[in-house]
Amino acid sequence: MKNRTLLMIPGPIEFEPAVLAALGAPTTSHVSPDFIATFSQALERLREVFLAPDGQPFVVAGSGTLAMDMAAANLIEPGDRALVANSGFFSARMGAILERYGAQVTQVRAAVGGAPGFDEVAAALMDGGYKLMTITQVDTSTGVLANVQALAAAGQAHGALVVVDGVCSVAGEALRMADWGVDLAFTASQKAISVPPGLALAVARPAALAAFRARQTPVGSYYADWTNWLPVMEAYEARKPSYFGTPAVNLVWALNVSLGQILAEGLDARVTRHLKLGRACQAAIAALGLGQVPLAPTLAAHTMTAPRFPGGVAGADLLKHIGAAGVTLAGGLHPAIRAEYFRIGHMGPMTLNDVLAAVGAIEHGLRMCGYPFTPGSGVAAAAQAHEA
Ligand code: PMP
Repeated sequence: MKNRTLLMIPGPIEFEPAVLAALGAPTTSHVSPDFIATFSQALERLREVFLAPDGQPFVVAGSGTLAMDMAAANLIEPGDRALVANSGFFSARMGAILERYGAQVTQVRAAVGGAPGFDEVAAALMDGGYKLMTITQVDTSTGVLANVQALAAAGQAHGALVVVDGVCSVAGEALRMADWGVDLAFTASQKAISVPPGLALAVARPAALAAFRARQTPVGSYYADWTNWLPVMEAYEARKPSYFGTPAVNLVWALNVSLGQILAEGLDARVTRHLKLGRACQAAIAALGLGQVPLAPTLAAHTMTAPRFPGGVAGADLLKHIGAAGVTLAGGLHPAIRAEYFRIGHMGPMTLNDVLAAVGAIEHGLRMCGYPFTPGSGVAAAAQAHEA
């Protein structure tokens, strides 16, 4: 395929042929017995992928922002207090959505490239009265990985529902909902779940559902209201026909294929594969002498890398040369540093092969921009770190 480019942005990613084949298959009725059985299996599998045996999965047509919207719409009532552990652009978006539904939001903001720590979050929670807190596991604007386990423990200790934005992490980074006391986690199809864009996916555990059921006021969004979706999810799982809004039938078929592949790989093996890809890519960037947005290597995600453009190199030119070499990477997103860095996604079906190709294209781009470095040093560092 001479016109093929390698898509290595932090979502959407490249997808497995079997997943794409499900999208191209003839569309079935949303109440045909085979579709109902597939939807049912996808719901069961989501519970396994989120490691939430007592969780209620939701599969709804929409992007990740709908999953954020559903979380806020169903859990917040006007006047509720919410705490946002803010590690970047998507944490800030979560804060804005919570406010839209009437929450009084407190943001614990990390420096750009940092993540709020346990102590800061616990100190803020001491104020008391927080109905929920939100954590962005990987903020895609910075490539920062939050310590969900520690932050969730702080939230639990202060009686706040713990909500995790796992859009850039679920099925790539470790997330153990039940073990870590996460009450609601959500993602979108187009990242490590490895299905083309179009599905908002969430799992709500009993405390989140209880808070929803205890509402005194109606949910302020008709489409997002769990009152509408809960009976549909329960019916599909019980293998009965149901309807609220027409499901994205082919995406659900594709989701079930991908979830099957994820579970066949095994969650631990999958997390380890992403860990190695992250280390490989980040070692290459360091070997080439480029900085990274995360303020410390321990803060760096494994699903993506956020390198800084080196001094003297025009970012747009570098990305253009990388693109001309057949690899598509993403520009910056965080408003404070947008023009200073770029982003590489390495999640889902990606292998070391893809990371080596991306690093090779980056080396090519750097050379075209006149940046001095030892040719091959990035590729060598990636290969070595992957095996370390
Ligand atoms: N949260 C995070 C961490 C994300 O990376 C994204 C998308 N990049 C979103 C939320 C929003 O998802 P979507 O673009 O699918 O609406």
